[in-house]
Amino acid sequence: MGLLEGLSSLGLGNLEKLDIFEKEEKKKIPEKKKEEPKEEVIREADFLFDKSYTCPICETDFKCKTVRAGKARMIGSDPDLRPKYEHVDVLKYDTVICPECGYAALSRYFKFMTRIQAKLIKEGICIHYQGHKYDGDSYTYDEAIERYKLVLANAIVKKAKPSEKAYICLKTAWVLRGQLENLEMDASYVKKKVIYTRQEEEYIRNAYDGFLTARSSEPFPLCGMDEQTVDYLLAALATRFEDVDVAGRLISDILSSKTASSRTKDKARMLKEELDLVIKRKKKEEKEKKEKADQEEE
Ligand SMILES: [Zn+2]
Repeated sequence: MGLLEGLSSLGLGNLEKLDIFEKEEKKKIPEKKKEEPKEEVIREADFLFDKSYTCPICETDFKCKTVRAGKARMIGSDPDLRPKYEHVDVLKYDTVICPECGYAALSRYFKFMTRIQAKLIKEGICIHYQGHKYDGDSYTYDEAIERYKLVLANAIVKKAKPSEKAYICLKTAWVLRGQLENLEMDASYVKKKVIYTRQEEEYIRNAYDGFLTARSSEPFPLCGMDEQTVDYLLAALATRFEDVDVAGRLISDILSSKTASSRTKDKARMLKEELDLVIKRKKKEEKEKKEKADQEEE
């Protein structure tokens, strides 16, 4: 039995195996012993903290996982502005859900609602809601997406503006993309990939439609984005959906804008290259189709 055995009850179990007298020979070993590389395990939970909220519907105080400001390092972004961070998918943590009544929103919208919206949420969500706990120290992708779905349900029930609903769809699509990038190569890989790809497409399509509507019906900024950012986002989504007229118009608006930043203009130029390829391919396809039709007529 070690001299220090039992220290674990004081939280010092790591000291239980300490030798009382260091062996002499250890000291004789030439000084430069190879150090074993330290295995640094960085977990998503290291970037999170529990933020306090009070539910504006039922006044319950609760806590919700939030990413610590400034801790995560951004390492890039997708053409549609989805930010990517090292070690943590921050997009998983933008939802706030009252565990008591089921009221849920993106963090930037959580506090704000009209009296009518509160009534709609009480009737449409709260009286039916049967929540469950999110016990882990971080959210799985499935949990994060479930939370976004509840946020979207709330937004629909409270008749939120198109921009808010579009923004929820955009973020849900981004989380689904994160899930796709992190899919485990197990037996269900192919099946999951098909499902999540389809869902991502559906959410991003709704984001596109919603922001197009919002752009023509709501004042800027939209969801904290200025006009140039929204135009760039819409141009990127229009390019993806090969909506070439919309994409072309928005891109040329950005490139000739006096207020767009040089960074936005650079990104718009990259988008234009992509769009030109789409236009070229479409023209080729049309030509081939016409030639085929002509041949059949002869
Ligand atoms: Zn509540």
